[in-house]
Amino acid sequence: MPSSDPNCLFCKIIKGDIPSTVVYEDAKVFAFNDIHPDAPTHVLIISKTHTASHLETDDVQLYADIMQGAKIVAKQLGLSDYRLVMNNGAGAGQSVFHMHLHLLAGHPFTSPAG
Ligand code: AMP
Ligand code: ZN
Repeated sequence: MPSSDPNCLFCKIIKGDIPSTVVYEDAKVFAFNDIHPDAPTHVLIISKTHTASHLETDDVQLYADIMQGAKIVAKQLGLSDYRLVMNNGAGAGQSVFHMHLHLLAGHPFTSPAG
């Protein structure tokens, strides 16, 4: 079983203890709709292994897993244009400390952060 943090919101979502709208799941990753979407499509892709943030892990396999998961989600949703965002640290907007990718699509994007 992947490592899990009993106090982590996203670990609870993976376990189904907190409901979510699941978009994709396999042995390594879990993807679900963001509860407060910032774009017409806003999916969160997380590893089933708990790690707090990009800075907190050197396990490059986890990075690979969520990047690949994002591509699977994009293909599943028929997306050709999408943005992947990872906030790292509270000052950069991270509010849930279980590393995750935001997949955003469905409206135009201009500047890197816009
Ligand atoms: P971040 O601010 O980068 O840590 O992203 C955390 C994201 O989790 C935010 O976009 C929130 O809207 C989203 N979020 C928080 N609680 C839930 C939940 N219960 N289900 C789905 N998304 C959530
Ligand atoms: Zn977690």
